[in-house]
Amino acid sequence: MKHVYNFSAGPAMLPPSVMQQAQAEFIDWHDSGASIMEISHRSASFKELLEDTKDTARELLNIPSHYDILFLPGGGRSQFSMVPMNLLGQHTQAAYVNCGVWGQLAINEAMRYCDVSIIADNNHVGPKGIPPQSTWLPYDECAYVYTVDNETVQGMEFDFTPDTGDIPLVSDMSSNLLSRTIDVNRFGLIFACAQKNIGPAGITIVIVRKDLLEIAPLPFMPTMYHYATHAKAKSLYNTTPTYPCYMVNLVLHWIKAQGGVTEIEHRNRLKANKLYDYIDHEDFYYNDVEKNSRSRMNVVFDLHEHDLTAQFCKEADERGLIGLRGHSSRGGLRASIYNAMPIAGVEALIDFMRYFARQYG
Ligand SMILES: *Cc1c(COP(=O)(O)O)cnc(C)c1O
Repeated sequence: MKHVYNFSAGPAMLPPSVMQQAQAEFIDWHDSGASIMEISHRSASFKELLEDTKDTARELLNIPSHYDILFLPGGGRSQFSMVPMNLLGQHTQAAYVNCGVWGQLAINEAMRYCDVSIIADNNHVGPKGIPPQSTWLPYDECAYVYTVDNETVQGMEFDFTPDTGDIPLVSDMSSNLLSRTIDVNRFGLIFACAQKNIGPAGITIVIVRKDLLEIAPLPFMPTMYHYATHAKAKSLYNTTPTYPCYMVNLVLHWIKAQGGVTEIEHRNRLKANKLYDYIDHEDFYYNDVEKNSRSRMNVVFDLHEHDLTAQFCKEADERGLIGLRGHSSRGGLRASIYNAMPIAGVEALIDFMRYFARQYG
């Protein structure tokens, strides 16, 4: 098999040992004579897997018992509607911090349900960074405050947890959940689709404070879109995406075996620092995000000679460094270095970048 380092932003690479285990168990899961894909989501053995997945997530992220953990279909984007539909209650306003593509998409969707108050905006102009909380507009009348903890396309990440007092803080952590330790108590709701850092596409993790499940739903709320439905049914109201759930389980156990989220966080910092240091010291490349807002997961960078971008991708590809093209809306280059990317992958990328700069610089 060809060996590559895959820098794709998502669906993204998974740890090789997880893939090997999945392959070994593919047609015969736990001596059952059947694949995990072929058994009932209501069987005792699947329920056990689902509960173990929840328990392991709870342990790794230190999720207190007054939070529920839900596994839902519908990807990250379903959450863009589920959040307002479930959390607005009597409110007519919600507050959004807009720092990029994913914040904007969530805002567009929320506008169908309420008045969106954009309390901070750094999506379009000026220095690229997460606006400090001291600059945010008031949000006292809002049902919740919504942030995207890591803007996957813009390569910007919060380096602080906002303090929103009694107003629930909602965060889209699709591209950085489990990449560092977090204090779940500071959030009302956290969600993450799996395909960036936690597993294959098809499943979304929602961590929600239990009191928020009591909020009266909108009239005509689809049953499937009501968090309380899934909390009550322990994520088995409909047929849970069983195979993605199994993969998430393996990834969570892989994280645990690596030494947990603290160790993963340490490695992620090393990887990101190495890459940013190189970019900052090589005149051929640049990154235009403020230092304290730089994403540890998605390192965006550009060539001063923009015309060479396609050539860069082509040659990188030939060397087995794949998935480096930036998102279509931003252009340029992006190296996604999620949990599964080893430090050797980052080193191989830097070696190539050094070669390319000498060749064309
Ligand atoms: C990828 C991504 C999503 C979208 O998830 P889908 O599963 O494609 O709907 C949402 N938010 C962020 C921050 C992402 O990176």
